[in-house]
Amino acid sequence: MTTTAESIAPLHAEMTAWRRDLHAHPELGFQEARTAGLVAQRLESFGIEVVRGVGRTGVVGTLRAGTSGRAVGLRADMDALPIAEANAFAHRSRHAGLMHACGHDGHTAMLLGAARHLAQTRRFDGIVHFIFQPAEEGLGGARAMIEDGLFERFPCEAVFGMHNRPSLGVGRFAVRSGPMMAGGAFFDIHVTGRGSHGARPEAGVDSALVAAQIAVSLQSIVARNVAPLQSAVLSVTRIQAGDAYNVIPQSASLGGTVRAFSRDVMRLVEDSMRRVAAGTAEAFGARAELDFRELFAPTVNHPEEAEFAARICTELVGAEQVERQPPLNMASEDFSYMLERVPGCYLNIGNGGAEGGCEVHNPGYDFNDAALPLGAAFFARLVETRFPARGAAAVA
Ligand SMILES: [Zn+2]
Ligand SMILES: [Zn+2]
Repeated sequence: MTTTAESIAPLHAEMTAWRRDLHAHPELGFQEARTAGLVAQRLESFGIEVVRGVGRTGVVGTLRAGTSGRAVGLRADMDALPIAEANAFAHRSRHAGLMHACGHDGHTAMLLGAARHLAQTRRFDGIVHFIFQPAEEGLGGARAMIEDGLFERFPCEAVFGMHNRPSLGVGRFAVRSGPMMAGGAFFDIHVTGRGSHGARPEAGVDSALVAAQIAVSLQSIVARNVAPLQSAVLSVTRIQAGDAYNVIPQSASLGGTVRAFSRDVMRLVEDSMRRVAAGTAEAFGARAELDFRELFAPTVNHPEEAEFAARICTELVGAEQVERQPPLNMASEDFSYMLERVPGCYLNIGNGGAEGGCEVHNPGYDFNDAALPLGAAFFARLVETRFPARGAAAVA
């Protein structure tokens, strides 16, 4: 018997309690001490071997059944965001200014549910590494785990990760072969002018004005330098200058993010930004320096693993509930670095339809707990199908 959403339903209440507890106690990337501690304790209570501190606050649990040495990695992310929660329900964030606005509380609860179920039932012949990753939200948690020897210490023939999608109804999945999400970078531009009295602009070089001009000029890059059939996003999301009403600030800074589906386009945008920032500043007699940091590679699914994941989804919910050509997503995901090391697939699980539901990274977001059994069943069934127990009918 292979796992279905129904057969894992007895864990639904417990997974919901875990998820809401995590939601109430959000922690930023690399600060997931409480979260990682709870994950490790629970895995151990299921009889799973645990290694803590992989990539700083990451946790890996390993479960073996039968005699096969084949291993698969299943990954969830654990970090929250610096967003002040707008929700008023009982499990709202207890930590001011922080919230689980991306559903990583749900991802963690789903993978814990799968771990508990697989540890109880053990209907497979192989090894599962449950990878609980820190710092997915732009701080490089996947890379930290990889640099800490993740795939040398826990070798995997394939790795799978899943993210909720509020625009997809509960009971649905979306998965495609090839590019799934964009690569991304964060940038800062430091502008140096010359400070002066606010009433004597002729004595200074106004860094605030220069920063504003740079913000406008940067918008020509995607419009005029990137080829129309390619795609990229350049968003200036922060501009900071000055502290007083009567001081022209000496320095200013801009920050933001760039996304693209290829490394070539990413490089083109970076080079153009450097030119536009420096040239604009020079036109005003100021200086500008760009600090451009790649944070995510494009997320590209491997064809065989994408097919395999789609098959598991289809078995769980039926072909008509599985979107095979979902639109490309300009958001980024650092699971991409795991996919650069090991074949695998990243897919979306439907999370829409809850009362008051909204998009991720919104202060009113909450993971829809109705999706928990399906996500856990996906991971469990994937393991049972990939590594059939001896004596069980092998599924071709
Ligand atoms: Zn996010
Ligand atoms: Zn996320």
